[in-house]
Amino acid sequence: MSHPISLEFFPPKTPEGAEKLRVARQKLYALQPEFCSVTFGAGGSTQDGTLQTVSEIMTEGCPAAPHLSCIGQSRETIRERLSAYAAAGVKRIVALRGDLPSGYGLGGEFRYASELVSFIRAETGRQFHIEVAAYPETHPQAKSPMSDLDAFIAKVEAGADAGITQYFFNADAYFRYVEDLASRGVKVPVVPGIMPITSSSQLIRFSDACGAEIPRWIRMRLQAYGDDTASIKAFGLDVVADLCRRLLAGGAPGLHFYTMNQAQATLDLCSRIGLR
Ligand code: FAD
Repeated sequence: MSHPISLEFFPPKTPEGAEKLRVARQKLYALQPEFCSVTFGAGGSTQDGTLQTVSEIMTEGCPAAPHLSCIGQSRETIRERLSAYAAAGVKRIVALRGDLPSGYGLGGEFRYASELVSFIRAETGRQFHIEVAAYPETHPQAKSPMSDLDAFIAKVEAGADAGITQYFFNADAYFRYVEDLASRGVKVPVVPGIMPITSSSQLIRFSDACGAEIPRWIRMRLQAYGDDTASIKAFGLDVVADLCRRLLAGGAPGLHFYTMNQAQATLDLCSRIGLR
């Protein structure tokens, strides 16, 4: 099968982490990703680390997309980031609102990602391909599922070219979301974000924080495996490979893997579903 795939990394915090990520990337390039994206400011990572990692990936011959979040930022700092990205040869950006650590006021000159997308288009025209976040299970702070759909549409109207979803384990939520978008006349591709399951506690912690639902039957199984990581990985591979197959068979335009800077789980998934 030749569906396009993309891979997401976070900027490593230590030289050892950077070396491990280099090794992981070399393995993952066998999947011929359309691009690799690198998160920005998430989980306390440094913002300069994003450009550093993106530059390394481009030097390795793979297109790369820095994430750029706008919450708490001024127009001037975003303008400087955009020029730094352009100067480094970046052609594609994942534009986000981001989250402020709790305890911070709103501050900054942007409220929503749609305002960032408008700003990027106003400043740089069509220079960058822009992807934005999509939430088939609804963003945790949205007033309602329909207002969250409106928020995605606002980003497309502001000039976004494509969406990448938060991860989910319920294919029907994705299909419903893209049907709703199609019925509103939205034509941009919305690529499902895929989270490999390799650990139970980390997945549960992450999912609670970002509003991704772990269906009860999956959560119960993961908890029952306790420390038996081999069983967790084998079960996770079955479940997520089934999800990927259903998504592609149902018309998903590609898959975006949240690699967590690890190669094996994503390689195993792609091999199981016959991608590359
Ligand atoms: P928005 O689209 O602005 O939406 C945020 C909230 O505001 C939603 O609840 C929405 O319904 C609501 N909203 C939007 N517009 C309006 C309006 N006009 N009126 C009322 N309500 C409105 N975070 C990072 O910090 N760094 C990263 O690198 C990063 N990468 C990510 C990559 C992907 C693919 C995804 C799915 C998420 C990523 N995140 C990242 C997390 C993201 O920053 C958070 O989910 C954040 O809370 C929302 O960002 P957004 O761009 O979706 O915001």
